[in-house]
Amino acid sequence: MVKTGVAYTGVPSKEELAKIPGMPSEARMAKGPVAVIECVQEIPCNPCEAACPFGAIGVGEPITSLPVLDEEKCTGCGACVAACPGLAIFTVNMAYSETEAAVAFPYEYRPLPAKNDLVEAVDREGKVVSRGRVLDIKMPKAFKQTAVVTLAVPKAMGFQVRGLTPFKPMLREGRE
Ligand code: SF4
Ligand code: SF4
Repeated sequence: MVKTGVAYTGVPSKEELAKIPGMPSEARMAKGPVAVIECVQEIPCNPCEAACPFGAIGVGEPITSLPVLDEEKCTGCGACVAACPGLAIFTVNMAYSETEAAVAFPYEYRPLPAKNDLVEAVDREGKVVSRGRVLDIKMPKAFKQTAVVTLAVPKAMGFQVRGLTPFKPMLREGRE
């Protein structure tokens, strides 16, 4: 039997994601931007808890507890995304437009893409699953190496896209 899950492949499985307390409900996701905390291993870690200015993430004691998202307190501000050393936090806005979702994720490659660039959007395994358009790039001061990139992707990809391929300048809009 093929073994799946973060302990075997480094990629959380559907089953793992379905039972963690960091996932917002589909109803909350449909309302607007919200954090998606894909932290599935009980490791001693908690910077996400202090990073949230709205008290929407709880780890508590013991420190190995999985982070719990309070989806009603979460504004989708994205302050927790770069704070996670495991690169396990994203924000998803399923209400971005009629046809698109907006997905924000940590990005540590260089060069950085620019706003409006068209890029290859990848899933949790790094497989290209769609084209994305760069909406925003933030460089949080406290995390010099970690940018937070937001992509617009087809709405059906909001649950799948979790990054982009290391940026290729030839994909910059108008130069394909
Ligand atoms: S997106 Fe903002 S409000 Fe939501 S959990 Fe992260 S830091 Fe808190
Ligand atoms: S900072 Fe990241 S890895 Fe650490 S507990 Fe929070 S979500 Fe998990």
